[in-house]
Parts: sequence; structure tokens; C-alpha cells
Amino acid sequence: MLQVAEAKERLLSKLVSVKKEKISIDEAFGRVLGESIIADVNFPLFSNSSMDGYAVYSDDLASASFANPVIIPVVSDIPAGKVEDQVLQPGQAMRIMTGAPIPDGADAVVPVEDTNTYHEQTEKHLPDRIKIFRPIKPGNNIRPIGEDFKNGDNILSNGHRLRAQDLGILTLLGKNELSVYKKPLIGLISTGDELLQPHEELTPGKIRETNSPTISSLIWDCGAQVKFTGIVKDNMRDIQNALDSLVREKPDMIISTAGVSVGVYDYVKKVIEEQGSLDFWRVKMRPGKPLAFGSYRKIPFVGLPGNPVSSFIGFEVFLRPALNFIGGEVDWRRLTTQATLLEDVQSDGRESYLRVFFEDYEGGLGARINTHQGSGNLFSLVTADGLIIVPIGEKTLPKGTLVEAWPWN
Ligand code: AMP
Ligand code: MG
Repeated sequence: MLQVAEAKERLLSKLVSVKKEKISIDEAFGRVLGESIIADVNFPLFSNSSMDGYAVYSDDLASASFANPVIIPVVSDIPAGKVEDQVLQPGQAMRIMTGAPIPDGADAVVPVEDTNTYHEQTEKHLPDRIKIFRPIKPGNNIRPIGEDFKNGDNILSNGHRLRAQDLGILTLLGKNELSVYKKPLIGLISTGDELLQPHEELTPGKIRETNSPTISSLIWDCGAQVKFTGIVKDNMRDIQNALDSLVREKPDMIISTAGVSVGVYDYVKKVIEEQGSLDFWRVKMRPGKPLAFGSYRKIPFVGLPGNPVSSFIGFEVFLRPALNFIGGEVDWRRLTTQATLLEDVQSDGRESYLRVFFEDYEGGLGARINTHQGSGNLFSLVTADGLIIVPIGEKTLPKGTLVEAWPWN
């Protein structure tokens, strides 16, 4: 039986990334960038004021104080968006607003708060002169050209998943069309004779099928699209037909749930063994030991366990990195943190993913074990704040141990 790290490596080594496409920036949020973005301008584009106030010669204000303010005539008004064509002369000031270009000659901006016009500035009327109460250093309240980034700087790299702030900077650079990786298409199949569709009446011995909504949502969360076959009965022919119907859609991966354990009716594994190839089908982890990986008609195939918590955790451990990788993301590794155990934890030596409640503990995270760890207990997954990982080989971890933690967010 493979250990988690080994199984993950084996799975990832068999995957390839999707191709690229061009899209409009309006559709780019959450997509993975398929090109590197190099700045073709300096930013700020021009030196501009970071305050509402007065552009001045700093030398003029050397003696300014509350007792003896410097009085200076105001010769022009520069709202944001206007380029001043006069050059500021020593002994003069120009009123300037935040974001407006600094006029030639000025070397600092006095905030309006440091002048006598702060409380009087109720209308647009430009004062003839102002009193300034403080000296100022050259460069103060000026955002110099190129302070943020320079022409030629690497702004975003190929393989980066676009966040809100990235869309801001791409727009700033005039990138209206972008190359991104296509959304991976994932085929999904749920198997089990006991499973009912959501709208069906419950009958004795049956349950509603819950893996497809959960796993589909996780797939969407990775930026991929889902093609779901619907519920498939536990027999070789139906399973093979369902898999073949997915193959016709040319998915980047096929995921199934259930039917990969040692049950008599676990036909998914048998179909993959006979019609495709099975690389491994068990992983030394808890929950989620029956997890299969192989290929079907040359398409990578992952068989998640049937138990709802096991399939969820199997997805988080193996498929989230896998789908991010297929989707072109360079940083496909999960960002994890650490938590201190607030109670003793027992395990069985397998790498264990336990549902926990997090609370503040000594400036970091503390973890309390959710009492229900059964792999069918979906509600305990709903109430938990995330997972902690008990490493392989550990049977008892005492209270106070620092462990790897995966908060939901
Ligand atoms: P199996 O892997 O087929 O042995 O299923 C393990 C457990 O998971 C059984 O209790 C199944 O009823 C349950 N199960 C399997 N598939 C689903 C599903 N799609 N939704 C909800 N429960 C499921
Ligand atoms: Mg079954």
C-alpha cells in the first residue's frame, strides 16, 4: 500500500496541463495566466501628488512655524487630470489635488491640513495667498514616476491564478485580452445501487446521492468544469457505458466515487483493471484508504471512495493539487498552516486527516478534535473548521503537539 506522498507524486507525474486560449479581461478572474506580463510603462506614469494641498519650493518654508507662518501667493489650481503648463517659481504655490501631476519647479506638496485654508476650504474659490505653518522636506507627498514599478519589470508570471488585485494591474497595463489556460474538463461518475437522485422519494435501504454535488463544487472551486454522468448502477456494463460516454467528451480527467474497495459489488475497480490500467488502488491514509488511480482509454482516472467524508478528503489531498496542475497553475501546492493540539489525539499509524474545530491559542491556532470522525458523517464535515494531519507512523500525539493544519479558509 502506497503512502500519501508517494501516491500523490505518482499521480501528478502522469498529468499534463491543458492548452491555452485567448479571453477578454472581463472573464479573467480566477483563470490561470498563460503568458508572462512585462511592464511597458513606468508606474506611476508621472510624478503626482499623494495629498490634497499646495505644490511648493521646500526651501521657501524653512522658517515656517505656527507662531510665524510663511505667507505665499497661490498662482494656479491643478485638479487631478490637468497638466499645468506654467513653471512654479520660487516664492509661489499652486493648489494641487491628489493624483494631479506635479508642476515643473515644485519639489514638495504641503498638505492642506498644514495651511490656514484647511477649515476654510468649503468652496472651489482659489485663495490669493496661504499661510503655511510647517517646513517640509524635498520630495514629501510626491509619488515619483516609476516608484511602484518600472518599464521592463516582470509583473505577473505564466501559470499564476488571477486574483482581484491582478485584474487591477492588468487593466492598468491596458491588457484587454489575455492568454489563459483552458478550464480543465472533468468527467464525474457516481456509482451505487443504493443511490437516489435529489428529487426522488426516499425508500427503505436507499440514500440520496451526495457525492456529486460536493465533488462537483470542489472541481468548480479548482477552476475546472464538470460533466456528470448521473448515478450509475453497480454492474460492469453500466459503468463501462458511463465511462465511454465521458470519454466522448474528451475530458482531461475522469473521477468516480465508490466501488473501488473490496466489496463484492465494487465494479469500478474491475472495469478499470480490465478495460484500462490501474496504477494503485489503496493509500495508507485515514479516512479514504480505497483510492484508485489509473487510466481509462488513455484518460487519467481517479476513483474516490464512496463514503462522503472520504471522497471529500481524498479530493483535497490528491485532486485539488492535480486539478490545479492540469489547469496550468505553477503554484499548485496548498498553503498550509500549523495548529497546536488542545487534547491528546489517537491514531492508527496511517496518515490521518481529522476534522477539527480551531480556536485562538497563544497567538496562533489551537485544534480540538471533532468527536465524530466516521467517514460517513457528513454533518461533522459541515460543522468542522478544517482538518489537521496526524503524520504517518504516529499512534498518540500528546496535547500541545504542533501539527499541520488545513483551515477551510
Ligand atoms: P462503496 O465505496 O460503494 O463501498 O460505498 C461506501 C459508502 O459510501 C456506502 O455507505 C455508500 O452508500 C456510500 N456512498 C457511495 N457513493 C455515495 C454517493 N455518491 N453519495 C452518498 N453516499 C455514497
Ligand atoms: Mg457501493
